[in-house]
Amino acid sequence: MHNISEILTHYGEEREGAVAPKLVQSTNFCFRTVAEMREALAHESETSFYTRGVNPTVALLRKKLAALSSSEECLVFSSGSAAIGAAVMANVKAGDHVICVQKPYGWTTKLLDNILSRFGVETTYVDGRELKNWEEAIRPNTRLFMLESPNSGTFEQQDIAAVAKLAKAHDIITVIDNSYATPLNQQPIKMGIDISIHSASKYLNGHGDVVAGVLCCSKEMYEHIFKGEFMTLGGIISPNDAWLMLRGLRTLHIRMARVAESTPLVVNYLKKHPKVTKIYYPFDENEAQYDLSKKQMHAPAGQFSIELNMETAEEVEVFCDKLQYFLKACSWGGYESLIFPAIARMDSQNYHASNINFRLVRFYVGFEDAELLIGDLEQALG
Ligand SMILES: *Cc1c(COP(=O)(O)O)cnc(C)c1O
Repeated sequence: MHNISEILTHYGEEREGAVAPKLVQSTNFCFRTVAEMREALAHESETSFYTRGVNPTVALLRKKLAALSSSEECLVFSSGSAAIGAAVMANVKAGDHVICVQKPYGWTTKLLDNILSRFGVETTYVDGRELKNWEEAIRPNTRLFMLESPNSGTFEQQDIAAVAKLAKAHDIITVIDNSYATPLNQQPIKMGIDISIHSASKYLNGHGDVVAGVLCCSKEMYEHIFKGEFMTLGGIISPNDAWLMLRGLRTLHIRMARVAESTPLVVNYLKKHPKVTKIYYPFDENEAQYDLSKKQMHAPAGQFSIELNMETAEEVEVFCDKLQYFLKACSWGGYESLIFPAIARMDSQNYHASNINFRLVRFYVGFEDAELLIGDLEQALG
């Protein structure tokens, strides 16, 4: 077991003078003899032969990410969605059945409903908070569980260890989207999950300038996915982006500590505000799954959602537009605070007052001081 700051600062580095790692911006790698070339080709999943497979800069990143995730191996993709696609596709075939948590990341739904359905893979969505819902949905052809804990938007959780145990008993592969928590705050592989995925576009890179995805798994699963979806579909990260991600990773522990400290201050301010009716935050003491949060996550992250005590979508829109420091943008995990209001997905002429979803705003607390952000909320809630 490594120390986290050691992994981020030293682990896997082979320094020969330069402190920063080498950016090996090369498509292919050459060999002195045919015998060496043959040897490299026979071990393509471990050797730099062609950059669609293994590249030294990406290899260093993979090493660090596997160590952080307590997994034997790791693959890095050009996006989180590419990593999810490869993980699921590598483990299902026509006639198989997938059970997925309700309301996962939007593009995970699209993968299952729009793409895999065309190849004869069926999906059932369950309220993942109750173990019995997973159990009752199992069929003889159920091959894969897709978890996301906490999930996107309203942050419901699954009891990861319990769901993993149930899956093992039925010979079902488990995949989790662990983007919310990062490997620092939640360790799904240790809880028995087969494949843990992160959108590295969020916290892992952490600077809002790289789109990438990470897939952590056993050596055996790595070989399976490497030779299959990884090399075949080719959704790799570029060496240049891998190098940027290595730089971003250096401060992951410091950044996560920062949001763990400042987000509860912002949440506590909003909780007391009369214009806020509900908070969705796994580390809020009134949250139904608070005990589970403490059991399986080490610290809070920076994302939460609120429901506003407002009668019309226009009021919500005015509030959002008044905010100066919370930028109106998708994603999260960078230095800048963000909001993504549900009304951004609604036609402003055509929303229904009965659809209370218009009151929902997702927040991400970045690295600004909590007082600065609270001041901004104060003036916007007015
Ligand atoms: C952003 C996100 C993804 C997709 O990652 P990309 O890097 O944008 O492809 C997947 N899951 C969750 C929970 C996300 O927030």
